[in-house]
Amino acid sequence: MSRFFSSKYSNLVPYTPGEQPKDMKYIKLNTNESPFPPSEKAIAAALEEAKKLQLYSDPDCTDLVKEFCEVFGVEKDEVLFTNGSDEILNFAFMAFCDDDTPAIFPETTYGFYPVFAELNHVPYKEIPLREDFTINIEDYFNAGGTVFIANPNAPTGIALTLEEVRAIVENNPDNIVVIDEAYVDFGTESSVPLVKEYDNLVVTQTFSKSRSLAGARLGFGIAKKELIQDMNTIKYSTNPYNVNRMSMAAGLGCLKDEEYTKANCQAIIESRAFAMEELKKLGFEMTDSKANFIFVKHPEYSGAKLQAELKKKGILIRHFSKPALDEYNRITVGTKEQMQALIDAIAELLGR
Ligand SMILES: *Cc1c(COP(=O)(O)O)cnc(C)c1O
Repeated sequence: MSRFFSSKYSNLVPYTPGEQPKDMKYIKLNTNESPFPPSEKAIAAALEEAKKLQLYSDPDCTDLVKEFCEVFGVEKDEVLFTNGSDEILNFAFMAFCDDDTPAIFPETTYGFYPVFAELNHVPYKEIPLREDFTINIEDYFNAGGTVFIANPNAPTGIALTLEEVRAIVENNPDNIVVIDEAYVDFGTESSVPLVKEYDNLVVTQTFSKSRSLAGARLGFGIAKKELIQDMNTIKYSTNPYNVNRMSMAAGLGCLKDEEYTKANCQAIIESRAFAMEELKKLGFEMTDSKANFIFVKHPEYSGAKLQAELKKKGILIRHFSKPALDEYNRITVGTKEQMQALIDAIAELLGR
């Protein structure tokens, strides 16, 4: 830290992204990216748009929003696009949390939530999950702050039903509830339809996982227009051109190719079922993941060791050193071939 660094941030512990080593070609199962390339339509649109990079991007994302509204069935003032969904989540922390409105989220969830709270100097409360990693929804009723829930949750992959989300939203008439649906396309019911019914719900999603655009940084929030307006105030006070031209074009191309996205999600769902079944045969225990990752532990092989040994074999998975998660690893679901390579490598490590 330099002597010039603001004391406001001197205690800030930043988010640690999954490693992206360059020393060899790995099978990357550690950051929940898609194993599939972006849609051809997304690639072509982004390349074409590169010719206009001398011009600022459209701060209203007009064309993207128009197509989006048709696909998602929302009004144009009910959506806000951002630089990854991390940005809309940060906007929500900025817009809807305060000294007397703490952020409230599960103790085991997306590691960025406490960082956003710290960054914005808002208090936060972490609520433990049940022993089996499920969320007890009643813990969030009349929460007395802004609720953030990843659905499905990370890194467990466990999802709430639409009716459970509805119950949380209904039992917080005076609080905002933010549902982070980064992994919704892999088999969970989306809460987007509830936005029409409730003025206290924000749903966020991303193009990073199911739409193979992690590197484009494109995310969005859906909410009633008053809430979108609030977050737009933050956006226009930080970076009006937060979505760059090429990402905007790629997103639009992608939305014109929903069949491709659906087929890829289906492939991941099948690959997930295959991997879960094979890993169970090897003695692993796991949560009922509805995401593009699985969360596994082996009774005779430690989480940290599995991560280290697989890395030596050219396969990256994610290990969290937090005590409650220490036994586990989070493994991104790739193609069936990648999952087979993972299973073969693990079988070898276990001496099977
Ligand atoms: C990946 C992820 C995000 C954000 O991803 P972006 O690439 O910033 O869109 C948000 N929430 C959860 C739970 C995630 O896993």
